[in-house]
Amino acid sequence: MPQHLRIINGRTLCPATGRDDTDPLLILDGLIAPPDATPPGGCPVLDARGALIVPGLVDIHVHLREPGRPDKETIATGTQAALQGGFTTIVAMPNTNPPIDSVATLAWCQQRALQTARCRVYFTACLTQGMEGQALAPAAALRKAGAVALTDDGRCVQSAELMRRAMQYARMVGLPVLDHCQDESLTREALINEGKVSARLGLPGWPALGEELIIARNALLSEHTGHPIHCQHVSTAGGARLIREARARGIPITGEITPHHISLTDEALSTFDSNFKMNPPLRTAADVSALLAAFDDGTLHIIATDHAPHCEFEKQRELSAAPFGILGLETALGVILTELHHKHGFPLAKIISAMTHHPARLLGLDAGTLAPGAPGDVTLIQPNLPWIVDKHHFASKSRNTPWHGVTLTGRATATILGGRIAWQLES
Ligand SMILES: [Zn+2]
Repeated sequence: MPQHLRIINGRTLCPATGRDDTDPLLILDGLIAPPDATPPGGCPVLDARGALIVPGLVDIHVHLREPGRPDKETIATGTQAALQGGFTTIVAMPNTNPPIDSVATLAWCQQRALQTARCRVYFTACLTQGMEGQALAPAAALRKAGAVALTDDGRCVQSAELMRRAMQYARMVGLPVLDHCQDESLTREALINEGKVSARLGLPGWPALGEELIIARNALLSEHTGHPIHCQHVSTAGGARLIREARARGIPITGEITPHHISLTDEALSTFDSNFKMNPPLRTAADVSALLAAFDDGTLHIIATDHAPHCEFEKQRELSAAPFGILGLETALGVILTELHHKHGFPLAKIISAMTHHPARLLGLDAGTLAPGAPGDVTLIQPNLPWIVDKHHFASKSRNTPWHGVTLTGRATATILGGRIAWQLES
């Protein structure tokens, strides 16, 4: 059935096209219509009630846990969480069980998504077989089967020689490379950032150097191979500086910030609450300032959540035994608007760019824009709406969030997928 929708009484903001007006937005047959198009008779109308109307948000860093751990998350629950957070397109990481390092596993995921996904899902595939950092995964076949990027996220290829060949191979087949930047020789047993807090608490530390060394290596490998590289969840001042310097020299290296790394510091670990334990770890206030400066000057131009669901019983173990990672999809927009827009004054257009067309362009996804002919994927946002995070209302199967009970300002109020209202906040 053709999906038409006319959205009225909002402010349409599309950084990709420069559109910023209060005219109605029309979706015809599931696609964004030109501004001068006339709505057909009987076209459904959605009253935006003064909301911001933006391209459906895009998250290029999500862990869906299926196959392998459907008790933590499934493609169905993770994509529903995405919709409720304002995301219409997400990119899944391949560190499932089994990992997505073969065409067979990728095909299984795609089939499962076809049957159960509530929003658009793309899949990345592993750089190395089994994410073991020993032998390359079949990138050409994986690309042909629909993988949108290569990454061993959660792990980091430690051998510079293997990473060089991975980059050359990725260049040959035309797939972007995303890297979780961690020198494992510097981070063995590490639980939190190495610094004053780790010393005070007597916990093994994860030094900034562990990230900086790999980012420097990646910049050099990108320069050497001529292939772009994207650094995931950049957490340190030094890492941001290295990316800035490399970009100034013309190297095609990019990076992403996460809601947690720009809003929280390692001081939160004083409570030993494992909902503040993630990898890379929360850093210092100086690192947060440097990440904000890097977002401001365009060094880090993408926002991604690193949505990492874990069961309550796992997160309730002592800090050393609890897994790394927190949920992101249902709190990301609220945290980002609260911190970046309301607290630090970043313009909405810059924030929306970092959550729509910048990530979409990095991976070549058909998303992130309200240009005529684009998919009719739209998010309605009330940027000034205060709300209290309640983890018991999450669509995600997991509850591991550090923001439970926290008041955030700004949230999605409706998510539209191909012209169909896929989710709407109950008012
Ligand atoms: Zn990672």
